[in-house]
Amino acid sequence: MEKIVSLCKRRGFIFQSSEIYGGLNGFWDYGPMGVELKRNLKDFWWRRVVHEREDMVGMDGAIIMNRAVWKASGHEETFSDPMVDCKTCKARHRADQLPKKDGVPYCPNCGGRDLTEPRAFNLMLKSYAGPLETDENLVYLRPETAQAMFVQFKNILETSRKKLPFGIAQIGKAFRNEINPRNYTFRSREFEQMEIEYFCRAEDGLALTDYWLEERLKFYEDIGIPRSKIKIHDIPDGERAFYSKKTYDLEYEFPFGVSELEGVAYRTDYDLSAHIKHSGKPLEYFDDEKKEKFVPHVVEPSAGVDRTALALICEAFDEEEVADEKGNKEVRTVLRLHPRMAPVKCGIFPLLKNKPALVEKAKAIAASLRPHMMVFYDEAGAIGRRYRRQDEIGTPFCVTVDFDTIGENGPEKVDTVTLRHRDSMEQERIPISELRARLEAAIF
Ligand code: ATP
Repeated sequence: MEKIVSLCKRRGFIFQSSEIYGGLNGFWDYGPMGVELKRNLKDFWWRRVVHEREDMVGMDGAIIMNRAVWKASGHEETFSDPMVDCKTCKARHRADQLPKKDGVPYCPNCGGRDLTEPRAFNLMLKSYAGPLETDENLVYLRPETAQAMFVQFKNILETSRKKLPFGIAQIGKAFRNEINPRNYTFRSREFEQMEIEYFCRAEDGLALTDYWLEERLKFYEDIGIPRSKIKIHDIPDGERAFYSKKTYDLEYEFPFGVSELEGVAYRTDYDLSAHIKHSGKPLEYFDDEKKEKFVPHVVEPSAGVDRTALALICEAFDEEEVADEKGNKEVRTVLRLHPRMAPVKCGIFPLLKNKPALVEKAKAIAASLRPHMMVFYDEAGAIGRRYRRQDEIGTPFCVTVDFDTIGENGPEKVDTVTLRHRDSMEQERIPISELRARLEAAIF
C-alpha cells in the first residue's frame, strides 16, 4: 500500500487535505490526475445508469436538507456506531472493530484493556444554517445522497412522467464523522457516493435486487475490475437493516483487506413510508391501468466514488522488470488502468525538442485531439523517460513525432507517427489521419 500512496502523491492523484498545515484526518484532495480519474468514473457511471437507460433519470440534491428529513429517515436517532474510549490513552474506537487478545478486546493505540462500555456516537456532521447557533438552525451535512431521491420522489415522478419500475440516480458528496478514518481514502469523513433508488412493485423487489447486482458486476468489469476480484457477500438474516429483505455487499480485495465497495439493498417501502408518515404528504404511486394506489418498494445500489477510484488504482498498479535503452534492467511502474478510466488518454511527444518542425507537428496533433480527449504534450527528457512518466499515470497510448513524420526520410512515411501501447510497450506506425478514431475506439 505504501507504494501506491507514494505514487498517488508523486504523480498528482491524491494529496492530504490542508497538507501544509499538517493535514486533517479523514479529508483528502484529488490532484490533476486524481480529478480526471474520478470524472471518468463518474461520467461512465452516469452514462451507464442514466443515459443508456430509458427507465432512469438523474437529480442533484442539496447537501444540506431540512433536519426533519433526518428525523424521518431514522438517521438522527440511529445513525451511529458503538464506540468505546480507552481510559488509559483516551483514544476512541469502534467497539465492533477492536482487536482481541485471548478473546479480550484491547486498545489498538496503547494496548490498554481498560475500556468504557460501548456508547452510540452519531456519525452526522453538524452545522448551523442562519446567523444563530440555535437548535432550530441546526443542520446536518448529509451522510448519504439517498434521502433527496426519496423526498423528491413525487416531483420527479410528475415531471419525468416515468412509470414503474423506474429509478433515480445521483452523484454527490456525503459526510460522516467516522471515528477512525483509515486505510487511505477508503474510510474518509468527506466522500462521494453514486447512488440509485430503483422504484418498483413489491412483488418485483427481490428479483430486481439480483438484477442490479448483475448490472453492477458488469459495470465493474467494464472499468477494469474483473468479477473474479469482487466478493459478493449476501448479508444473512439478522445482520441486515431491519427493513431490508436482501442486501449484497460487493467487496474488493484491497491491499489492507477485503472491504466494501458497494451495497445493493432491497429496502422495501421503508423510506417512502417513513416520509409519508413524517411529512404527511402523499408519496404514493398511482397505476393508471390497474387503478391502484400504493407505496413503491425500492432497490438501492449505493457505491462510493473514492473507494472505487482507490480500487481502480490498486487493481491497475504493477511493477515489472524491463530493459532500458542501454539494455540495463530497471523496474517499470505502470498503472494498467482501463483506457476509459485513464486520466490522460494519449501522451504526445516530438522526438527532439530542439527541432522546430518536430515540435510544431507534435503540438498540432495535440491541439487537434484536445477537444476530444485529455492529452498530454511532453518534450522534456529522453523519450524513454517520457514513456515511463506516462506509464506511471496509466496513459494507455503515446504518440511520437519523428523525422519520418515530417518527411525527412522520404515520402512514404510522411504524416505517420509511432503509436506506443502502454501494456505491451509495442509500437506501430499509423497515419495521423487515423489517430483520433483509433484512440476513441479504445477509450469510449
Ligand atoms: P462501511 O460498513 O464500510 O462503513 P457502510 O455500509 O456504512 O460502509 P453505506 O452506508 O452502505 O456504507 O454507503 C454506501 C457506500 O458509500 C459504501 O459502499 C462506500 O462505497 C461509500 N462509503 C460509505 N462510507 C464511506 C466512507 N467513510 N468513506 C468513503 N466511502 C464511504
